Amino acid sequence: MSITVKNISKSFGNTKALNNVSFTINKGEIVGFLGPNGAGKSTMMKVLTTYHQADSGEAYVNSYDVTKDKKNVQKSIGYLAEHNPLYLDMYVKEYLNFNAEVYKVNKENIAKVIEQTGLGPESPKKIGQLSKGYRQRVGLAAALLHDPEVLILDEPTTGLDPNQLLEIRKLILEIGKEKTILLSTHIMKEVEAVCDRVLIIDKGCLVADKRLSDLRKEE
Ligand code: ADP
Ligand code: ADP
Repeated sequence: MSITVKNISKSFGNTKALNNVSFTINKGEIVGFLGPNGAGKSTMMKVLTTYHQADSGEAYVNSYDVTKDKKNVQKSIGYLAEHNPLYLDMYVKEYLNFNAEVYKVNKENIAKVIEQTGLGPESPKKIGQLSKGYRQRVGLAAALLHDPEVLILDEPTTGLDPNQLLEIRKLILEIGKEKTILLSTHIMKEVEAVCDRVLIIDKGCLVADKRLSDLRKEE
């Protein structure tokens, strides 16, 4: 099992961002985390990436406990935040180099992730010169640097124009051949385009867990 979540709850003041959420994700799956804004998607992702501590419940990534074994959890996860902080003044390679240093990753991986994310022709440029789609590739490349087993992508296609959207979907499908992916979105079309399975969350509660193939049969 790549991700196991058992009865996770998390409140911010009076807001119950997550209310007793449980699910599992198998190795190799691409799972959509679907719900309206404020449903609790980012909070769940931040619990998995160890940025937030849940109030109660348990969660494991590659069977490492998110509260007791943060280091191994972080090694297992590549994370693309919704508002990914990129340094617009840095060159693509410089940024990846900087990330590799911060996370103590072998720099040989830089060439590999540039190739993997189709950044090759853009890599001599500054991040600020790139389109939003290519900036998203830089974020993905940084998330892939340490060759994690699991990728957690928070709204990876929000704000992209139609062409960039298709390109990034294609890339996510390609990366998904080798990784387990949990991807949040508020758009069902996004789930249909790339996911094997969907978890639907509303007001902090998990309300559905469906295989896309079963959803198609129900239609
Ligand atoms: P989503 O990612 O689905 O849009 P979030 O997980 O960001 O939802 O938010 C779930 C709820 O928790 C919302 O009501 C949001 O305002 C609240 N929330 C999230 N993070 C914080 C925080 N750091 N402090 C206070 N409230 C928060
Ligand atoms: P963390 O450093 O734990 O990730 P955040 O960066 O999410 O925390 O949030 C920092 C502060 O900003 C929170 O303590 C909260 O007051 C506020 N905040 C962040 N996101 C939200 C949100 N979605 N709704 C309300 N307040 C928020």
